[in-house]
Amino acid sequence: MTETRESIDLIVRADTILTVDEAGTVITAGAIAINDGVIVGIGDEPQISARYTATEVLDGAGCSALPGWVNTHAHLAMNLFRGATDDVTLETFLDRLIGAERRVLSAETVAIGARAAMAESLLGGTTTALDMYWYPQTSRAVARELGFRLINGPTLMGDVDPEGNDFDAMLVQAERILTENRADAPNDNLWLMPHSAYTLGSEQLRRVSELAARFGARIHTHCAESSGEIALVAAQHDARPLAVLDEAGLVTDTTVLAHAVHLTDDEIATIARIGATVAHAPISNLKIACGIARVPDLLAAGASVALGTDGAASTGSLDMMQTVRMAALLHKGVSQDPTLINAERAVRLGTADGARSLGLTDVGTLAVGMRADIQVVHTDTLASAPTPDPWSRIVYGASASDVRHTVSDGRVVVRDRALLTADEPTILRELAAASLLAHSAAHEG
Ligand SMILES: [Zn+2]
Repeated sequence: MTETRESIDLIVRADTILTVDEAGTVITAGAIAINDGVIVGIGDEPQISARYTATEVLDGAGCSALPGWVNTHAHLAMNLFRGATDDVTLETFLDRLIGAERRVLSAETVAIGARAAMAESLLGGTTTALDMYWYPQTSRAVARELGFRLINGPTLMGDVDPEGNDFDAMLVQAERILTENRADAPNDNLWLMPHSAYTLGSEQLRRVSELAARFGARIHTHCAESSGEIALVAAQHDARPLAVLDEAGLVTDTTVLAHAVHLTDDEIATIARIGATVAHAPISNLKIACGIARVPDLLAAGASVALGTDGAASTGSLDMMQTVRMAALLHKGVSQDPTLINAERAVRLGTADGARSLGLTDVGTLAVGMRADIQVVHTDTLASAPTPDPWSRIVYGASASDVRHTVSDGRVVVRDRALLTADEPTILRELAAASLLAHSAAHEG
């Protein structure tokens, strides 16, 4: 008998596949066929096996496959400072952190922090992050090494940055980086990351906006995170954060606003009308005691909402499984309405909605033609069984440590809970050495 099956790179099997397509299609006893990084077939396992033969097959017995998490607000290399500023106010946190960053950050330490953060992310099923941090080109190199879909761009602050640049030098460098990134990957979207309305003046924000317009770059910024920020921005600009950013031309349908905790009804309507996305980071908001974002009101107004972790220094962990669960739980409790953000919606916020908000049209759902960013999660566990609803199994039962395999852009980067693209003990050793300096700097303030 001659072999009539098509040879491909990879088949991923799973008891359940949550495609997160528009219809919310769930496939039982399924398989996903992948070649050259692209999903070429998805459906019943016997049909996929009859049609394809693969170089590698990932077993998914007792598992659910779903798109990799899309983390829409992170400061990845901040893993260096994890635990250095716990249980303090946002103002103390920022004071300590910004000072410590100036003393500790270099291309070398950022690489160590970013490598640890991407390893943590991939092992927890997160394949993409929108990352605002210094030395962005260093993080891009680490992402290529680990197989992580890093979305970043130059960060701008009004003061001298940890690389020693003043604002004018930051702008020049930002232009160079955007030019480099455009040459590197002409089809990828470009990003500029003005830190916030309280760390940049009006004229500076306007100049960032001009640079973004010249490159067609998308904007990622912090907005209305705490009541302290509202007061600070009022003192500096005599206006609220959203109005300051909007006035500078920084709020468009491609803008991602981190946090947006303190919004008025009018501001919610404005965000929905413009089509900007709120990157909701519920665990960070709780840990730094910033308040609770009005996510149900944003969703009811038709605004785009996605989920993020924030940096490890403020949020503790980059665990998107916890973040998705928190988004599902928090607003039920606060509103005393258990019907808000059901399990399927929560998964969607952490996958398809995140991808769409970043302008990524080829990830976030599992379908033929999409790039293969997939997590395979063990859900036949004592913590998840016997829940019949597969969405509930992920949101209310699973933990990041249940992620068994992670496929990023068609490449198997985690197999049987082991990271294949970097050495975990080495990452931990380097992080421990670099963090000695980071933590003592944070305590000097
Ligand atoms: Zn942040």
